[in-house]
Amino acid sequence: MSDIGKILAPFKKPCPACGRIHDPGEVRAEIGSGVMDQLPEMIGSLGRKPFVLADPRTFEAAGKRALSILKDAGIPWSLFIYKGETLAPDERSMGAAVMHFDYSCDCILAVGSGTVNDLAKLLSRISGRPFMLLGTAPSMDGFASSSSSMIRDGLKISLESIYPSIILCDTDILKKAPLPMLQAGMGDMIAKYTSICEWRISNLVTGEYYCPVIADLIRNCVRQCTDHAEGLKRRDPEAVEAVTKGLILAGLAMTMAGCSRPASGMEHYFSHIWDMRAQEFGTPMGLHGIQCGTAELICARVYDRILQVKPDREKALASVKSFRYDHWKIDLRAFLGKSADQLVLLEEKEGKYDPASHSRRLEKILDSWDRICGIIREEVPSPDKIREILKKTGAPASFEELGHTSEEVRTAFYMTADIRDKYIGSRLLWDLGILYEIGQELFPDERPVAYFTDPWPID
Ligand SMILES: [Zn+2]
Ligand SMILES: [Zn+2]
Repeated sequence: MSDIGKILAPFKKPCPACGRIHDPGEVRAEIGSGVMDQLPEMIGSLGRKPFVLADPRTFEAAGKRALSILKDAGIPWSLFIYKGETLAPDERSMGAAVMHFDYSCDCILAVGSGTVNDLAKLLSRISGRPFMLLGTAPSMDGFASSSSSMIRDGLKISLESIYPSIILCDTDILKKAPLPMLQAGMGDMIAKYTSICEWRISNLVTGEYYCPVIADLIRNCVRQCTDHAEGLKRRDPEAVEAVTKGLILAGLAMTMAGCSRPASGMEHYFSHIWDMRAQEFGTPMGLHGIQCGTAELICARVYDRILQVKPDREKALASVKSFRYDHWKIDLRAFLGKSADQLVLLEEKEGKYDPASHSRRLEKILDSWDRICGIIREEVPSPDKIREILKKTGAPASFEELGHTSEEVRTAFYMTADIRDKYIGSRLLWDLGILYEIGQELFPDERPVAYFTDPWPID
């Protein structure tokens, strides 16, 4: 049994903490040096003829070698390699995979880690064929999550898909991935500090389901990754293995918890916003995990500031009274473009800005303020600690390095509250009536506001 198999085995039984069964189903993951030799046996367990999907870079990194191993083992295949430099997870790429699919193939072998995997996950669902992933870079936690991050009608969306039954990550291949991809993997892992913190805070404030056993699984993974932060820059196999394992388990943890809480929170919403704006306005955009790592530093600064807050009921109620829903919609559209429409629909369904639901949450927050601060102290390291981890890996350690201004980050911070229907740090501050005040304090900017009618005054 593989290492990951051993970690997952206890989850087949009811959870001692929450009573649910977290079994992620049949999934086999092999990580390590030389595990590529197991390819014929693994493919053999899925079918007789794989449909091999790759892009030019992933084919070069691992596809060629995979085909030569299959050839030696006498296994036939059908191959489709995307053309061009960049591969977008959009209608065109998905259509190409479907139109090139060979229905004489009874399984899929995807070579790649990011977009190729997202496309293969959907192709597996559409074709009904089981699939295996041959990873090429430990850059984000989508390896084993059951959704695909796609672009449809120009909008970034998440579509339900099927994760691979087998994940093969040979560290001899992964350690040769471009350094930013290794740094991105670490960034996506340290993002989990905020994810877990916010999961617990939401459990306290909104009563949302939370499982401490899954949270612990993630904490262990993050610890193992950060212990190897320095080694990652040197491409040490142990460091690459720790990050790969963490990313696979983080993806599985979302399926096991039945929600994305174990692996994404406010830091991911910064990344989503940067992606949305890049799509709409051509602003800077980076690798998902690099953005999440830098955003984790922003979040650590926010949480560090939250620890100094003295909640004030009157201020919170006055602020909600002065909140203008129509202004909010205008600002959201101005900053996020057409992506804002779906966020407005989300709010219409959820009603987080409704004063009655606010006052219920506010009372909970006031009652449990000390516990909330305790959770933050337990879960989120200091900004200095996060900066140190980022610097050890050589990843960008400031939003300026990603090409964003203080003003843009401040506005993005306000809008993280609207990206999903999840209770996160920016919502906690809105509930306390101090979101805009703290935003201006943490991300000051002298320049006039160009696209954002600055927050409705609180008086
Ligand atoms: Zn549980
Ligand atoms: Zn992520």
